[in-house]
Amino acid sequence: MFKRITSFIITLILIISAVGMGLKPIPANAKNNKVSAHKVAFNKKFCIKPKKTIKIKKSNVSVTLDNYYKKTGYYDLTLKDKKKKYHFVVASRDEGCELYYEKYIPNYKIKAIKASGKKLYLKVSKRKNIPKAMSISGKASDHYETKKYEYLESDNIILFMDKGIKFDGNILSKFEEQLKEVEKLTGLKHTKHRCTYGSYCNNQQYIFGDLPFDGVDIKNTKIHVYVKNDIHPHCFAIPNDYSYFLINEMDLDVNNNDELCNAFIHECIHYLHTSNGTSFNSIMNEGFAAYNEIRALRNYQKAHNIEDTEFYERFGYTLKKGEVTEANAESLFLKEYTNTERVYPYGFAFMTYLHETYGEKAFTNLFSAAKIILKKEVKNQEINHNDLSSKGCAKLLKKKYSKTIFKDFAKWLNNNPQFISEY
Ligand SMILES: [Zn+2]
Repeated sequence: MFKRITSFIITLILIISAVGMGLKPIPANAKNNKVSAHKVAFNKKFCIKPKKTIKIKKSNVSVTLDNYYKKTGYYDLTLKDKKKKYHFVVASRDEGCELYYEKYIPNYKIKAIKASGKKLYLKVSKRKNIPKAMSISGKASDHYETKKYEYLESDNIILFMDKGIKFDGNILSKFEEQLKEVEKLTGLKHTKHRCTYGSYCNNQQYIFGDLPFDGVDIKNTKIHVYVKNDIHPHCFAIPNDYSYFLINEMDLDVNNNDELCNAFIHECIHYLHTSNGTSFNSIMNEGFAAYNEIRALRNYQKAHNIEDTEFYERFGYTLKKGEVTEANAESLFLKEYTNTERVYPYGFAFMTYLHETYGEKAFTNLFSAAKIILKKEVKNQEINHNDLSSKGCAKLLKKKYSKTIFKDFAKWLNNNPQFISEY
């Protein structure tokens, strides 16, 4: 899954771009124009007004409120220390203030407490040591439960965990193994993802209501995986300006061979896909993840002498009888489904068909052409986000593979009843 959370990210992007677009600031009151330099201590709440500077006692740190935008409720600010200036923005919301850093400030942290018209209340503190990773045995027989926010770190993966998460000591080696497997199957390698520090903070805050891991791998060089229960959807991948994915405690049950976990594998495929190529419509995105996820699970069963079980029904990857026909295959693809759950079975069967018919790179071979089409779509404002439209996807598939690709797929389905549920 990765679509449902995009509205939140779009809001963030809108906020950041709105600030970047240079909305007209409220002219500062002439009387207030004189720079005054009140002094406050670290960790103490202070009030700041437009064009004012507050100095922090016994330090070289000062904070200036450069502009206040009444219409949008944004505050443009600068923190200055001995060497550098750091720009940040505070947005005033009904539910409280949100702070958007432009970049990481190594030694200080800022908290936006309250906004009231032109007045903004902030607190500056010294940054404490960056949290250290929890050390675990690596043994499956050792069981852990986090008592506070903890993270685990391996060569390629960081697991940021909520309090009270249970897991076994070999979790990281299992996930590294799964990462290697999906890299092999998809032919896509883990590369460094795009990341803006402001987005890193906002997403972490969105998940935990706090920034417990601030300072840890802020450049997103590793794959960031958040583990939290009671969040909806229960797992998702975010491909935007801070890329990560989220799973829950259930998905850490890696030593249960009766019920193989698929969430890490599934979200990891989305992650590898969007860090290496264009995001398509959800039928194709989910189909690619489901297709490779099933292959990875089958390979795992083979390697560990586990009985081959039927995953299709369990994961909801089977189509209903008569759901896809030669007459409707293309229109379903173009309109997608109103019930988003149905994109999975359609996508799974379609991606299997595509790879079996056009080879193991049938999907990744579309990346370069898709990038060009997406660029045009964004330029023409046909879409306002980073996924290629269904229309664009269909056009590309027809051009690259077959004009009758959707009819061909429906015909193929008739000969492959394993993708269709009996019920
Ligand atoms: Zn998915």
